[in-house]
Amino acid sequence: MTNTAVQELTLADLLPISDSKDYWQHAACKGDPNHDAWFPYPSQDFDYARTICAGCPIRRECGDFASRTGQSGVWGGHEYDRGNLIRD
Ligand code: SF4
Repeated sequence: MTNTAVQELTLADLLPISDSKDYWQHAACKGDPNHDAWFPYPSQDFDYARTICAGCPIRRECGDFASRTGQSGVWGGHEYDRGNLIRD
């Protein structure tokens, strides 16, 4: 019996978005000096980061990467906690 509903992700699946220099070089947040804005406290808004993400060409892929790899902070215009979306 096979379980086709569960798909194991391998590193190779993530490499196109995690390790591609070409990919991340298009990040709108690249070089942003306001590091704390990307890891807001629960009581803080993240309008600063959200506004930058809104104009980022890899926004969808970035959020997907965060959820698939357990990231925390603002990714793709949303806030994640260990890969779980906690604020839109
Ligand atoms: S979507 Fe936001 S966090 Fe992701 S790369 Fe773009 S600017 Fe950075």
